[in-house]
Amino acid sequence: IHTGQWCVHYRADLEARYVRRLTITTELKRALASEQSELSMVYQPKVDLSTMKVCSMEALIRWNNAVLGFVPPDEFITIAEQAGLIEQVTSWVMRRTIEDLSYFRVKGYRFTVAMNLSTQDIQNKPLLNKLVNLLTEFALYPSSLELEITESDLVADASLAIENLNALTSRGFHFAIDDFGTGYSSLAYLKNLPVNTIKIDKSFILSLATDENDQQIVHTVLGLADAFNLKVVAEGVEDEVSMNILKDWGCDIAQGYFISRPLPRADLEAWLENSPFG
Ligand code: C2E
Ligand code: CA
Ligand code: CA
Ligand code: CA
Repeated sequence: IHTGQWCVHYRADLEARYVRRLTITTELKRALASEQSELSMVYQPKVDLSTMKVCSMEALIRWNNAVLGFVPPDEFITIAEQAGLIEQVTSWVMRRTIEDLSYFRVKGYRFTVAMNLSTQDIQNKPLLNKLVNLLTEFALYPSSLELEITESDLVADASLAIENLNALTSRGFHFAIDDFGTGYSSLAYLKNLPVNTIKIDKSFILSLATDENDQQIVHTVLGLADAFNLKVVAEGVEDEVSMNILKDWGCDIAQGYFISRPLPRADLEAWLENSPFG
């Protein structure tokens, strides 16, 4: 009986997940095709710890669906990758982000904007060419954009990814390794790639103020990064104590709720006016 019941629950759970995945796929296709998009971008400030001022904004996608409500990006980006929709999502993100970057430049802001690319994007040459063309269309330098990619995009058999990375770097694009510490690559390995920034994953930063293991890890990463001449961004900074620890230890840039949550463009302008970091 127990086994039987477990099976029933397990099946129901599988079915529910299957239905959700299917709904996300269908609804995402619809959202991408519709004029009145359910998709939007928010921007989270990054602060240069040597000046305590904003130096960059990370662009993060949001999706508010009529049927499903708010769908977390982690969830729908993964599904988009598996359903062959990621190229469309990234195209949308690229255009919107570059329009907003152009808007910020016109307003006189000098910060760079960081965009997330997924594994398939970095292998997709036509998509990357589209990015180059968009920047030309808006008369922006590639150096005003940072591209965040994860370690897994570059390890294993990723020669095309590395080739594209090199090509874009020679055009003036900057890359950062996202979620650093959660994968397998080492700083020594990164040294051979055209990557000059790492983002320490928030799982090591959230409890930095109290967790001695995290302190040990972060301190070690900062020391090594310094030896390898890599710039370090800490994401997930939620309190002042963590922010000060990072500053004391020579971390270059901080990002997290202590500074600001990700904000829509209009709210970001208000934040820039009023925040001590703005
Ligand atoms: P990520 O690139 O590692 O982005 C950082 C995530 O941490 C964001 O979650 C951000 O809102 C969250 N975060 C920032 N500061 C704090 C903090 O102090 N505390 C906590 N607890 N969280 C913080 P979000 O926006 O939900 O995005 C999740 C993931 O979805 C991103 O992780 C990224 O992998 C993916 N993603 C988001 N937008 C895009 C996009 O436009 N394109 C692609 N390919 N992926 C995206
Ligand atoms: Ca990121
Ligand atoms: Ca992360
Ligand atoms: Ca440093």
